[in-house]
Amino acid sequence: MRARACPGCILVAVPLSYECLDADCGHIIVAADQAALVAAVQEHMSSVHESFELEDVIADTATEVAEERDDEAGARDG
Ligand SMILES: [Zn+2]
Repeated sequence: MRARACPGCILVAVPLSYECLDADCGHIIVAADQAALVAAVQEHMSSVHESFELEDVIADTATEVAEERDDEAGARDG
C-alpha cells in the first residue's frame, strides 16, 4: 500500500466543536473531525430534538477547537 506524502500539506485533523443552536439546549458536541462531528450532531438532533441538521450547516457552524496555550492567558497566578 502506497501512501502519498504531500510535502507542505498539513493533514492533521483538527478537533471540531459545534454548539447546538436550539435555544434551550446549548449542548456542545466535540469530535475529532468533520465527518465524526456531523454524525454526532445529527445523532444529537435526532435523539434530543427529533430534528435534523444539514451537514452544510454543521460544517458552517463548527469551530475548530483551539489547543490550550499559555501564550496569551499566561498571566495566571500559580
Ligand atoms: Zn441540542
